Amino acid sequence: MANYLELVSQELQQLEETKTFKYEVPLEGPQDGVVRVNGKKVVMLASNNYVGLSNHPAVRRAAIKGIKEYGYGVASVRFICGTQDIHFDLEKKISKFLGTEDTILFSSCWAANEAFFASLTNEKLGYETYKDVIYSDRLNHASIIDGQRLCKAETTDKKIYKHNDVDDLIRQLEEDKNTDYRLRIIATDGVFSMEGDLAHLDKLVDIAKNYNAILFVDDSHAVGVCGKRGRGTPEAKGVHGKIDVLTGTLGKAIGGAAGGYISGKKELISYMRQKARTYIFSNSLPAPIVYGATAAFDLLMKDKSIVTRLHKNTAYFRKEIVKLGFTILEGDHPIVPIMLGEAAVAQDMSKELLKAGVYIKGLWFPVVPKGEARLRAQISAALRTKDIDRALEAFEKVGKRMKVI
Ligand SMILES: *Cc1c(COP(=O)(O)O)cnc(C)c1O
Repeated sequence: MANYLELVSQELQQLEETKTFKYEVPLEGPQDGVVRVNGKKVVMLASNNYVGLSNHPAVRRAAIKGIKEYGYGVASVRFICGTQDIHFDLEKKISKFLGTEDTILFSSCWAANEAFFASLTNEKLGYETYKDVIYSDRLNHASIIDGQRLCKAETTDKKIYKHNDVDDLIRQLEEDKNTDYRLRIIATDGVFSMEGDLAHLDKLVDIAKNYNAILFVDDSHAVGVCGKRGRGTPEAKGVHGKIDVLTGTLGKAIGGAAGGYISGKKELISYMRQKARTYIFSNSLPAPIVYGATAAFDLLMKDKSIVTRLHKNTAYFRKEIVKLGFTILEGDHPIVPIMLGEAAVAQDMSKELLKAGVYIKGLWFPVVPKGEARLRAQISAALRTKDIDRALEAFEKVGKRMKVI
């Protein structure tokens, strides 16, 4: 019989050679535009704190108020005794923000995605025998992939279309036109985290309609970020309120603590409250987080300038980093992939940049394809122009020294 510690030690050694997940450089204080690391202040270009709400005074105050008024934890799942009125209030607020009928909260977007697919496809819903099909973008987030793994293979066909390639999707839908599927689901990220590109939701809305499919969009990297009012990828693509099912996280732009949701038609959300296993059997979102997230949505709805500042910062950084001679993936999302090619270059450069005062992460195989190693900059409204300039100076210095530019 094998010794499990020997087995994992061998594997660990190999894993750590790729170093993608190894470096956990701790912050010695809150998440913000400028953070403290190794006793030094560095510019943060690696967080999902897109609109700077992670350490915003109003969000902090709200979280403290949440504890004062509703306590720390609720020690129950929603349906036993873990629903506080503030949970319903936040769900209503999210629906209003997204232009949907209803919303159900989860402890994370991971939990939301894990619940969604199986809750529909593993249930007979009046059918004795049936088959469903899911078409999934090749670069969809791990939680969408794992969510689909919970769908029974006997009743769910799982298909993958080329990344952001609507023609490939249409080709597959055409191919299956005469198959008697019960449900067809098209599943995509709103924004893809490694590339910073947006799904063609305008086209996908029409395609879903033409083929009588359900359009599922995980907008985690877009809610509070994309569109003039930060309503997400649907707003940016002119289809706000037209997506069948939206999921998203409260752990990125919306305060960055925790929480996720599924949002859509009233019947679907009520059905999820009866069927979603990660909702039914997992603890309610704690009051300080509910209050913090509520304050984050309030800020976004009240003050358009927060999102405008993010968009301005993003445009400025994208323009200036190209001027320095770096190659980026074009776009307008605050995720800015700076392409370097070899893994070793990305590894060294992120280390050198940290020494020069910039916190940024490299991504390489297997997270991205071989030869496409990159640094992923993430711009935030929390950055002042002088912070961005400081980061750009470091990029220039380190880039020249390493002969990347
Ligand atoms: C970050 C992310 C998640 C996970 O969200 P959590 O709330 O942290 O579980 C899910 N989907 C996408 C697309 C993400 O980017």
